[in-house]
Amino acid sequence: RSARGNYHDVPRIGIMGGTFDPIHNGHLVAASEVAWVYDLDKVIFVPTGRPVFKLDRDVTNAEDRYLMTVIATASNPNFVVSRADIDRPGITYTIDTLRDFRALYPDAELFFITGADVIPQLMRWKDADEMWDIAHFVGVSRPGYEVNLRKAGVPLRSVDVIEIPALAISSTDVRRRAQAGEPVWYLVPDGVVQYISKHGLYHPRGTDESREI
Ligand code: ATP
Ligand code: MG
Repeated sequence: RSARGNYHDVPRIGIMGGTFDPIHNGHLVAASEVAWVYDLDKVIFVPTGRPVFKLDRDVTNAEDRYLMTVIATASNPNFVVSRADIDRPGITYTIDTLRDFRALYPDAELFFITGADVIPQLMRWKDADEMWDIAHFVGVSRPGYEVNLRKAGVPLRSVDVIEIPALAISSTDVRRRAQAGEPVWYLVPDGVVQYISKHGLYHPRGTDESREI
């Protein structure tokens, strides 16, 4: 059953790529809103392997990011998580993600979901010209970022922008808060708060006692 309770002959599938370091409620609202507006059958969350634009910083190991994404999405029947990017060796390029899902779902309509901050970068992504043939892109509003599709130079027939409830949450801020000992409750799902503290993620000393057993 789709987000609006329908059955589709041609599956309508959202792909939500992200580093998810950690996943937060902004990601979940974005996916939920796009699923509703486009009546998607499911949204596949795809945590990146080594994100190409974040090579300059230490990204939390893929297994932790994957598990937090599973925990955060578990209660939604239309949300699933894919290991496609974390199991592919090397740097993650979205074109590879899109090719993988096209091969997996040859007949589906694919919708790639991104935040407004990502839109100006899209044209610089690897094999961008091929991305538009595989998936429709849906940009969601994000506090602090203006969207100008013309300025971004993206093909207007392949990219939509929708307004979603504004959540001024970023993974960067969640990491900073966790590091400073500030609360992250209600910025990320409860299970993710507990996962972060249980595994000492973003902790200055980064202890992970549960792993020493
Ligand atoms: P970081 O600060 O580490 O870059 P982030 O919060 O931007 O983390 P990402 O994993 O980089 O999260 O983002 C994955 C996708 O989710 C991107 O397309 C991003 O634009 C989108 N996104 C992230 N946070 C929000 C938000 N609060 N509202 C709308 N879209 C968001
Ligand atoms: Mg980001």
